[in-house]
Amino acid sequence: MNIKGYISGFDGQALTIVAPFSDDYILTKREITECEIRLDDGRTVSADQRKKIYATMRDISIWSGHLPDEIKALMKYDFIAKTGCDYFSLADADMTTANEFLNFLIEFCIEQDIPTEDSLLDRSPDIARYLYCCLANKKCALCGKKAELHHVDAVGSGRNRKEIVHKGMHVLPLCRTHHTEFHAIGKDTFCEKYKVFGIKLDDYLCRVLRLKG
Ligand SMILES: [Zn+2]
Ligand SMILES: [Zn+2]
Repeated sequence: MNIKGYISGFDGQALTIVAPFSDDYILTKREITECEIRLDDGRTVSADQRKKIYATMRDISIWSGHLPDEIKALMKYDFIAKTGCDYFSLADADMTTANEFLNFLIEFCIEQDIPTEDSLLDRSPDIARYLYCCLANKKCALCGKKAELHHVDAVGSGRNRKEIVHKGMHVLPLCRTHHTEFHAIGKDTFCEKYKVFGIKLDDYLCRVLRLKG
């Protein structure tokens, strides 16, 4: 379907799309309240995306002992089962699907603690999402080792860390070595060097990290 025009939200957050539609029955009688809109910018999977996807599937294959083709089939089916997207081929998937699939593989590696050939940070198409997943799984954003929380916002001395309200604060999950480096070289140099930034603690993160929300 081609977009003929659109109305942008007052705060730039919403997009109103008016689409030709005549099947009222499906909306009123079956009470369907969800639909899917995916913007297709016409670009298909790039060689770089494909390389990263295959490298990640290879890491999962080595870790699991399954053949790469088995992992490819399993991960694709799992991805489709979770997202409900159409079956796709890595030869000509659209860029958005390829990125989503890559995010999915990366999150699987973080959650299962799978050793990878190179940094998942470098492979990730969505750094904020990657950092969020590292945080939720307490993995160092740079090397994957067990992480502690570094507060990017100054917590202030004298205050008991257990008593402060964490929700809304920005943190980074870093192992001891990288945490020490952060404090040694400072925020600006560190964030510039590794291209990372603090992630805002929300209710979910406060719950899984057992922090006062
Ligand atoms: Zn710190
Ligand atoms: Zn580290």
